[in-house]
Amino acid sequence: MTFTLPTGIETRPVAVIGAGTLGRRIALMFAARGGQVHIYDPSSEAGKHACAYVEEHVAEVASRVDGGASGSVVPTTDLPEALTGAWLVVEAVPERLELKRQVFADLDRLAGPDAILASNSSSYPTSRFADHVADPSRVVNMHFYMPPAQPAVDLMSSGHTDRAVMDLLLEVLPRYGVFPFEARRESTGFIFNRIWAAIKRESLAVVAEGVSTPEDVDSMWEINTGLKGGPFRAMDQVGLDVVLDIEKHYAAENPNLPTGPRELLKRYVDAGHLGVKTGRGFYTYGGQD
Ligand code: NAD
Repeated sequence: MTFTLPTGIETRPVAVIGAGTLGRRIALMFAARGGQVHIYDPSSEAGKHACAYVEEHVAEVASRVDGGASGSVVPTTDLPEALTGAWLVVEAVPERLELKRQVFADLDRLAGPDAILASNSSSYPTSRFADHVADPSRVVNMHFYMPPAQPAVDLMSSGHTDRAVMDLLLEVLPRYGVFPFEARRESTGFIFNRIWAAIKRESLAVVAEGVSTPEDVDSMWEINTGLKGGPFRAMDQVGLDVVLDIEKHYAAENPNLPTGPRELLKRYVDAGHLGVKTGRGFYTYGGQD
């Protein structure tokens, strides 16, 4: 099967699948050139929150993008509606392999034949869940970090991705204020995430072993690197359930990884303290963190 690259992309919508922490941020970036973004989530609440988030930030992001303008975001709980006309579909559903497999089978069936199907998965290469996609040459890993603050993007082939799809994305994505980098071979965690996983793991280990506290680790991080935040604040931002899922996945590939970091995360997740999204994680939020 030969994939035909999408044309007319400036006037066609981007569809984002999943309106959570990352989905809404991805929608924001694609809305910052004045276009339309469709965002699908089975939870209408999530869709509503995503729209409010984009509306709040889009003018500011657009002001930093060449040719930027405030675009619109259309939330929907209807998948075919979200996919109508989309030249690019970015999946950002929870990090569960079976769910991704099902979602990609649906996307393949329902999206236009020239739509590029991208996954924002942090830890799964698309080769692991694109088995029901008829034409894997249109499937690609397109992994965002935390836009708009961290606008780098990993691009990685599914193993079958059409070279022209990679080249198109490398050319087009910078127009939306994001910076794509290509992982030149399959790599769980892509490029920067692998490095970041090691930093998170050791920070958690230091706390799990009672050597230090999240606050002290973050303070030392800020003092020594000159960077704002620190690993624990960053994990709260990502969501501790997501961080745990990602670490479990690395551990499944490498059984020698220490268990302390996962046990510490699990205690927070079991208590419902998932980070910024629940108002409490390693820190508390809501005006008094
Ligand atoms: P999240 O839990 O914040 O959001 C997931 C959203 O998907 C929820 O709103 C949920 O209602 C929705 N959802 C559930 N089932 C769905 C379905 N079948 N179709 C569409 N939507 C569905 O998760 P997140 O943090 O945004 O992570 C999403 C993906 O992005 C994961 O693959 C994760 O690895 C990746 N990612 C996350 C981060 C991060 O910092 N959180 C960074 C990079 C990549």
